Amino acid sequence: MKTLYFHGRENATAEDKSDGPARDALTVKIEKVLLDGWDRELYGGAARPGPLVPGHWAVGEVVRPGGRADLRTGDRVVLDPAAACGDCVACAANAPEKCERPRVMGLDFDGAATGLVFGHENHWQLLPRSITSGDALGLGILAFYRQALLRAKPLPQDSVLIFTDNASGLYALATAKTQGLFCIYCDADADRRALAKQFSDAVVERYLPVETLREITGGEGPNIAMDLTGDEDFLADAVQMVSQAGRIVLTHGGWQTSAAYHVRTLSIKEAEIVGVRLGRLHYGSMMEQLEECAPLLSRVKVPTVPIGEFATVGFAGSPLLILDMH
Ligand SMILES: [Zn+2]
Repeated sequence: MKTLYFHGRENATAEDKSDGPARDALTVKIEKVLLDGWDRELYGGAARPGPLVPGHWAVGEVVRPGGRADLRTGDRVVLDPAAACGDCVACAANAPEKCERPRVMGLDFDGAATGLVFGHENHWQLLPRSITSGDALGLGILAFYRQALLRAKPLPQDSVLIFTDNASGLYALATAKTQGLFCIYCDADADRRALAKQFSDAVVERYLPVETLREITGGEGPNIAMDLTGDEDFLADAVQMVSQAGRIVLTHGGWQTSAAYHVRTLSIKEAEIVGVRLGRLHYGSMMEQLEECAPLLSRVKVPTVPIGEFATVGFAGSPLLILDMH
């Protein structure tokens, strides 16, 4: 079984790894890993001090339940990658999902792009039989966007504008629809717009005049703009477009240094900008939403690459990629 290592500067290696486990640790055989924008940044980023095993969205099968009395051998499980720090103000207030210093498996320490994962007992969630492994890979992205939306404190009548340049925008759309919001999906890609049209209240191309967006939203402008691109032009557009007292949510990894990871709340003009971090995802409450979103998510085309081929082909131009671990 192979393990994928990122060394920075688009250098990756898949190596056989055979270090043995502690005998009774929870052991999960990884089936699939979904690589996203954060992984792309890690992959292409500056040389790292040491290699890192990526993989923060993953599904697998329990080989040995270890200390998890609720799991049995053969159960399918999904990875909740973030660990709360345990000692910040939020953690002390028993709200680990708001932890100020979460550490994320596959980003801050070795992740799941490996044959077997040992230990990390709090990170695995049992998957209901009704959910396919492919759909479950998107569960984390859905849950993350839900966190992002909740940071903007949406009201039932609110409209949300989703700026995207990749397939994760469809996950954000699915999340916003299950929150009952009026959705405007903005994407330059015609194929994704066609898919979004079946689920979104409005679908627009990029560089739409601000006035048109105001018309769509009854003259007000959207209440919430979610930027999934990390593109400064989009941020500028979002500031122009949101209604008075509107909120902008930055979710892209590209904003990590400039906003999302450091700015809790920032005001530009009348707009309030909030960043979001990957915190504990609480999958238990997400399973029903996932079933609701499955009709959309199962149609999002994400290419699959066997782990042994990644070092050669990399992301091959795709913003999202599934690693087949077998
Ligand atoms: Zn904390």
